Amino acid sequence: MSARTRAKESSVEGCLAIVGAEMLSGLPTPVRRYLKFFWVVGKPQEYADSCASRHSIPIANLNMLEQSGQGGFRESLRHPLLNGWGKELNAMEGNGRKIVVVGAGIAGLCAAVYGLKCGYEVEVLEMHDMAGGLAMSWKRGAYRFETCLHWLVGSKPGGDFHEQWQEVCDIDQLKFVNQDEFVRLETEDGDTLRLYTDVDQLEAELLRRAPQNASAIMEFTRAVRTLGKFRMLDPAGGLKENWLNMLRDIPVFPLMGKLSRISGADYGKQFQDPLLRRFFTNGDIGKLTAMAMVFSLGLMNVGNAGYCIGGAQSLIRLIEEKIASLGGKIRFNARVERMLLENDTVVGVELEGGERVMADWVISAADGRTTIFEMLGGKYVDEETRKRYDERELFASYLQVSLGVAKDLSDEPAMLSRILASPLVVDPATEVDSVSFRIFHFDPTFAPPGKTAVTCTLPTRNFTYWNDLRKVDPGSYCREKQRVAEAVIGVLEKRIPGISEAIEVVDVSTPATVYRYTGNWKGTMEGWLVEPGDSFKPLRNTLPGLKRFVMAGQWVMPGGGLPSGPMTAKLAVKWICKQDHVRFDVHTEPAAETVRV
Ligand SMILES: Cc1cc2nc3c(=O)[nH]c(=O)nc-3n(C[C@H](O)[C@H](O)[C@H](O)COP(=O)(O)OP(=O)(O)OC[C@H]3O[C@@H](n4cnc5c(N)ncnc54)[C@H](O)[C@@H]3O)c2cc1C
Repeated sequence: MSARTRAKESSVEGCLAIVGAEMLSGLPTPVRRYLKFFWVVGKPQEYADSCASRHSIPIANLNMLEQSGQGGFRESLRHPLLNGWGKELNAMEGNGRKIVVVGAGIAGLCAAVYGLKCGYEVEVLEMHDMAGGLAMSWKRGAYRFETCLHWLVGSKPGGDFHEQWQEVCDIDQLKFVNQDEFVRLETEDGDTLRLYTDVDQLEAELLRRAPQNASAIMEFTRAVRTLGKFRMLDPAGGLKENWLNMLRDIPVFPLMGKLSRISGADYGKQFQDPLLRRFFTNGDIGKLTAMAMVFSLGLMNVGNAGYCIGGAQSLIRLIEEKIASLGGKIRFNARVERMLLENDTVVGVELEGGERVMADWVISAADGRTTIFEMLGGKYVDEETRKRYDERELFASYLQVSLGVAKDLSDEPAMLSRILASPLVVDPATEVDSVSFRIFHFDPTFAPPGKTAVTCTLPTRNFTYWNDLRKVDPGSYCREKQRVAEAVIGVLEKRIPGISEAIEVVDVSTPATVYRYTGNWKGTMEGWLVEPGDSFKPLRNTLPGLKRFVMAGQWVMPGGGLPSGPMTAKLAVKWICKQDHVRFDVHTEPAAETVRV
């Protein structure tokens, strides 16, 4: 175990020890490991902050005690010095307070829904001319190219996390597709591995290819089956909301503990099948905790990580509709330049061009670094946050080569990964030895009949190169994009001879494009990478010494992903409600829907 991991373990153990004195004493070690993953944060934080600094009690513990409804502690929070904690306003009547949300990505939109449901007036400010952020697709000619959605956790009615999607939109309107094959890996000399989403089929395929490696394979498929049954906790809930799932999950704890401590690359080493080994060692999958990929395969096995027709934008549109139906407002082409402050309290925001929008609360669901160090000038940062932004690894950025192919490719797999005999040069600091294609024959909204939209994502961490090249030398920038596109088409041509002639649209986006359209630091695709020993718990969503301000989105939820939107949005709005003594009830439908005659 590394020194860093040990230090983290001990701090978690420290937290648990203190909570344990109150309510968790006697829980077995696996339970405590589990809590390390999904520790609940984000409630009476200002109060907890002051207590924590005086008594060294971690915030989460105070939250947990408060959430658990233990009379003594809750009662103590009702002390007059705490300004009437416990009095609650009725959300249905509207509470006369306004929340401004910065950013209309998935997190900002979900924050708007939760805020509206709790009776707040909500205005979302988005710098782009449409909502979605990274959850985006774009039209070129007759084709639409998806950048985000591979799988959506919570796609299955009744499955884990589905209910949370229902809180923010009518997700059951979407049509989900569950692929039979997650990915097909192929070498240029003809070796092929099909990674099936159905674990029985996957097991049979792996045993056929490497029978001598049966015990490692069986252990892997057992892990996929087990994690498919895992019930996620609601980070915005406390023990009351989560105890049943925690009980159900007890048998999974040891496995989770084990997988969370090793990287994908180390996990892959146990497999003798070179293609299976490569699957786990490739790119960011190799750097991530093994838990991330095995868990995703577990969800695919139970059909709870499907792809929705129309891609991520179809989900975004549903949430936008929900906002409109609740009387919320989204303003586009409204870039927030800075937060307006009075006595360490955020009172609104200033837009590019100087317009001021005042608010009782501001939720930033925009890029974390820009929010903390630019919009707020780096004035409200603790050591841990600074260290995180200085040192921690992000998911890579990427180039996306999108191809409109005038050909029916429905015989091809939905995701094809070609292992290259010689590497493809992405930029001066990046070479890749495999190239993955997403062949969207399963989404009829992306191409006319008989034609297919195909995309290829090439990871790079060389953000500066692409961003500078675009600014300083636009001609070379275009030529470089063209060079990469030709190299990618060359790879596809080797696999499907003659396809080049059928390509009628070529589009290339780069890390500079991602940054321009979403503002994400270094053009990252998902924010913080979850490395071995890390947990998936949400990060602190407020800043020290700053009032009336909360953050949501992938920058406060390591691992990112679309589910981080509703998860962190709910935490943010719940926290605001608590401060304002407003009842947090996600099932109410106030404002426009109830008022209409
Ligand atoms: C290639 C790729 C594949 C992915 N695959 C999946 C997948 O299969 N499943 C999955 O669940 N997730 C996937 N993700 C991850 C997922 O898309 C993101 O984690 C998620 O969309 C992040 O949402 P967010 O709201 O936190 O941030 P963002 O989407 O970045 O939203 C931030 C918003 O803030 C706006 N903004 C920024 N600055 C300002 C400002 N100053 N003023 C006003 N507005 C501003 C931006 O324009 C943007 O709209 C993928 C991402 C990528 C790129």
